[in-house]
Amino acid sequence: IPEIPLTKLFEQSVLKFPNHTAVTFNGRAYTYSQLDRLIKNVAASLKNVGVKQGDRVALMLPNCLQYPISYYATLLCGATIVQVNPMYKSSELLHVLNDAGAGVLIALDRLLPAVEEVIGQTGVDALIPVSFESDCKFNDYMKDNGHPLPDATIDPKEDIAVLQYTGGTTGRSKGAMLTHYNLVANTLQSYATSKVRTQIGEERVLTISPLFHVYGMTSCMNLTFYIGGNLILVPKFDVEQTVEIIEKLKPTIFPGVPTMFISLLDYYKKRKFDLTSLRTCTSGSAPLPVEVLKKFNETSGTNVAEGYGLSEASPVTHRNPITGMQKPGSIGIPIPNTDAKIVESATGEEELDIGEVGELVIKGPQIMKGYWNMREETENVLRDGWLYTGDLAKMDADGFFYIVGRKKEMIIASGYNVYPVEVEDVIYTHPKVLEAAVIGVPDKYRGETIKAVVVPKDKEKLGEDELMDYCRQRLAAYKVPRSVEIVSELPKTTVGKILKRSLVKTYS
Ligand code: ATP
Repeated sequence: IPEIPLTKLFEQSVLKFPNHTAVTFNGRAYTYSQLDRLIKNVAASLKNVGVKQGDRVALMLPNCLQYPISYYATLLCGATIVQVNPMYKSSELLHVLNDAGAGVLIALDRLLPAVEEVIGQTGVDALIPVSFESDCKFNDYMKDNGHPLPDATIDPKEDIAVLQYTGGTTGRSKGAMLTHYNLVANTLQSYATSKVRTQIGEERVLTISPLFHVYGMTSCMNLTFYIGGNLILVPKFDVEQTVEIIEKLKPTIFPGVPTMFISLLDYYKKRKFDLTSLRTCTSGSAPLPVEVLKKFNETSGTNVAEGYGLSEASPVTHRNPITGMQKPGSIGIPIPNTDAKIVESATGEEELDIGEVGELVIKGPQIMKGYWNMREETENVLRDGWLYTGDLAKMDADGFFYIVGRKKEMIIASGYNVYPVEVEDVIYTHPKVLEAAVIGVPDKYRGETIKAVVVPKDKEKLGEDELMDYCRQRLAAYKVPRSVEIVSELPKTTVGKILKRSLVKTYS
């Protein structure tokens, strides 16, 4: 892994592929050299307003042209990007801006009402609005204003490129410090497992996964720019619009999340659309139900390769090989330069045997430096260079890993450990089920009991008893849900993860 700043990977593609399309957004295409010019103009403007090496610049943007520009411009200044989820409400925004100590905030104009509620209570002294429709400060920054370029000297192993706030699925979000080295490593590691074409710079990457989330940032943006590909930016997932884009722009690579594959499949039943341009689909962020994987592969003729990662690991650590042996339901094998093992989850010490469930721990060049300003939390998760993921998993004899659930989500019913993914995988095979989540709810006698919260497919009548009977025929008695709730939708994070924490709260 070369010790270079992340911006070098982009610069190499500007030299190799100056006239290739780098970004497509809102019906317009921008070449590598055009994008490079815009990045340099913004970097010079940021320096001009006082952004210095080590400062924190927060980005609160959906997927749009201005995102990669702000991102690489900030890095050219030697400053650190603070990833801010555009859906944040004022209390979450206040927490992230103050925790990171951000001095500059680049935000979409539509989000300014939320920003203005809190900005007076933060250290942000430069607010730079971005607009898709009208003139804004960011447009001035994109012009050549004759300011000198920053001349930051980066120490790739020490300097933090990105503060990646964790999804907050399990609690208050923490800033994972990802260095330039971490991000260069994960881009190259992902590349090594992707089987993408680099010599012709012609991959088109459908980017609906948000760039403010670590998966979109690395697996879509940084990887695409490294291979001189075309980043097709889509601000939000809408199934009809996605289908239109697939048919029109013919992407070749689609890094998606399970909910996107579920919706596309459902839509396909209504209208058969052309998916043949897709050569490689990857799924990450949350478990991909085996049934969905199989059906999507049958329908599209592609091979969805499931992978795994987390903010603390830049994010990718495991992946099913794109060619060669793949195992449905598995997150695959560790990517190059990555070690992984399963340890006894209570102590985190003893390494477990094949097939035994314990905590997944990982070592590699993509593992974060630590959590920003959180020494104790850092010491809890980083021990002897190993990252303790908080996920329960097992490994089979071929070295393939399987996530069975998060440590915090494991259900203990009458003393038996029940892993939600196993029950969910069975529920997903029921023909009337669109989406499902299995949680533990408190129970006087059993400690916890299993509850399934299920969204049926369009207009299908699904009875609670019908689903429990179905599970009874396929699962050991202690794993069968004791209650089923039929709902019209499940609460989700902006990257489409089911918010189990909120379901547990609702049904406890
Ligand atoms: P927080 O850490 O704040 O609770 P989060 O865990 O959602 O939020 P991320 O870093 O976005 O934050 O997500 C990483 C987690 O996503 C992993 O620890 C794992 O639980 C889950 N995950 C990722 N890929 C997969 C996968 N293929 N299968 C199952 N779970 C996955």
